[in-house]
Amino acid sequence: MSDKAVALSDIDLSLGRGPSRVHVLRGISLDVAKGEAVGLVGPSGSGKSTLLMVMAGLERPDSGRIAVAGTDLGGLDEDALARFRGRSIGIVFQAFHLVPTMTALENVALPLELADVPDALARAAAELDAVGLGHRLHHYPAQLSGGEQQRVAVARALAPNPAILVADEPTGNLDEATGRGIVDLLFTLKRERGATLVLVTHDPGLARLCDRTVRLRAGRVEDPVAA
Ligand code: ADP
Ligand code: MG
Repeated sequence: MSDKAVALSDIDLSLGRGPSRVHVLRGISLDVAKGEAVGLVGPSGSGKSTLLMVMAGLERPDSGRIAVAGTDLGGLDEDALARFRGRSIGIVFQAFHLVPTMTALENVALPLELADVPDALARAAAELDAVGLGHRLHHYPAQLSGGEQQRVAVARALAPNPAILVADEPTGNLDEATGRGIVDLLFTLKRERGATLVLVTHDPGLARLCDRTVRLRAGRVEDPVAA
């Protein structure tokens, strides 16, 4: 097994069509070690979210190679990629992205059911308990506060015990105190599970909690010496 959680090599990606086409990622090479927490920072529009989507297997690069936990994502067809994502990659978005018609419990159980994990509902209940929401299992997202919704999203992302957890400005929609609670939770669970974390953030305090910071500028990794 590789000791790299993520290996990106010479990733190029353009998005959009015609005149709105943008060369978003320009030759990105980056390794993330198992168990590492990497903070991805850089100006708005520099490609942070897009790079995270590539790491999560939600965007395929135009060229370059991406491996997650030793698996070359380019070698997987769409079905195999979706299965791999469900088991090995947890994603937390700024805007929570819970399924509005499902309870907290059903939201967290969903990826477990898709991965054929036995006792998905019991596991999901335990995960919600771990994020302090054991008393909110049957609430729908609209009945939960922003902080509670993000806790559900964290429980959902970590429930399958993914090899990597990626989070895109997970505190961006929350007030400072609530955001701090989410950050504590993310780092505590990451440590407990031995997961790898890649975190996009504008918050220097949050970036400092990571083992290492990677700065993007105009689709490239900025030289740490020049930063
Ligand atoms: P960041 O997260 O660092 O703010 P993004 O990865 O969201 O940056 O976007 C990087 C650049 O790519 C931006 O200039 C954005 O406008 C452009 N972009 C993102 N998605 C698309 C798309 N689907 N079509 C065209 N351009 C896009
Ligand atoms: Mg972004």
